[in-house]
Amino acid sequence: MHIYKYTLLILTLLLNSAYSSIAQDAYNIDKVVIDAGHGGKDSGAVGKHSKEKTIALSVALKVGKLINDNIKGVDIIYTRDKDVFVELHKRADIANKSKADVLISIHCNASSSTKAKGTETWIIGTSRSEKNLAVAKKENAAILLEADYSKNYNNFDPNSTESYIMFEMLQNSYRGQSMLLAQSVQNQFRDRMHRVDRGVKEAGFLVLVYSTMPSILVELGFISNAEEEKFLLSEQGQDYLASAIYRAFRDYKNSMEKGKEISNTIIEENTNNVADTTKVDNKKNESAYFGVQFTTSTSIKKASDFKNIENVWHYSQNGSYKYVSGKFSSFSKAKKALKNITKSYSDAFIVSFINDKRVSRKECETKINELNK
Ligand SMILES: [Zn+2]
Repeated sequence: MHIYKYTLLILTLLLNSAYSSIAQDAYNIDKVVIDAGHGGKDSGAVGKHSKEKTIALSVALKVGKLINDNIKGVDIIYTRDKDVFVELHKRADIANKSKADVLISIHCNASSSTKAKGTETWIIGTSRSEKNLAVAKKENAAILLEADYSKNYNNFDPNSTESYIMFEMLQNSYRGQSMLLAQSVQNQFRDRMHRVDRGVKEAGFLVLVYSTMPSILVELGFISNAEEEKFLLSEQGQDYLASAIYRAFRDYKNSMEKGKEISNTIIEENTNNVADTTKVDNKKNESAYFGVQFTTSTSIKKASDFKNIENVWHYSQNGSYKYVSGKFSSFSKAKKALKNITKSYSDAFIVSFINDKRVSRKECETKINELNK
């Protein structure tokens, strides 16, 4: 019976993911949605001296201000900038309609054990672990305060474990990027702030599920732990947490746009002759092209190891091999190929090269125009 009950939602999710796989666009990160969890009649978790909604809002505004003050040309969109109730699906709507490049949702954890502490960052995933589900259930329960929740979420029951099974059908085109940002946030919390690192985890958070862009949900710490509550409530604690998220965003933006972390890209000598694809060349033997990177391996594989993927080549970076399909003379051609490849490799994404070095989409397009003159 539940199959019928959830069909509509599954269809919605599939549509969303189909949309997201073709809408995957440039890697210019210039619009970020910052989502302060809960608000208004929904306090979220409640500590001895504090409410989750208040801490989340305060840190969210600080993150936005830091980005605004330190990075030029990034639009900040808040799902709320005051103490008001905003439905979960509306938060995702705000992000989708604004065509944001990233969604960062900010929350505080709570546990029945007062000893539990540390930070964790979540991405959408299909965990069946009860521990992971418990956190998603708690955050998703916010919809029970919404007037039309059964209609708006097609009878999704945030408290029922089986209602989460449908997320296993979800094809998440942005898993790779979301993971990169989430890992970056946890690294900042652990290495720069010495918070207890509970890691990057996966579960079905509605606000992330409904968003068609890379997205993360940050749990700043446990409001139920006296020591952490004190830190979360303090101006200094909030400043530190906000600057950690800001730095993680900055690093993510840099690595997506400039490919900084892959400056030592080496194209393997025998993989340049990819058939049937367009590579722009001129007399100086310069080239610029797009490809669809679909998987990574620590060992060398043959093109024939990848069934259904055409024109496979690879480059190596930091001891691992990145497998790419095609060399395309335009971003739109690569996008068409991506649509197909995500059927087998849901984390695939478009990469850009000039003279066999990874660059941003913009740099690549400029070079292609220059070479075509
Ligand atoms: Zn929350």
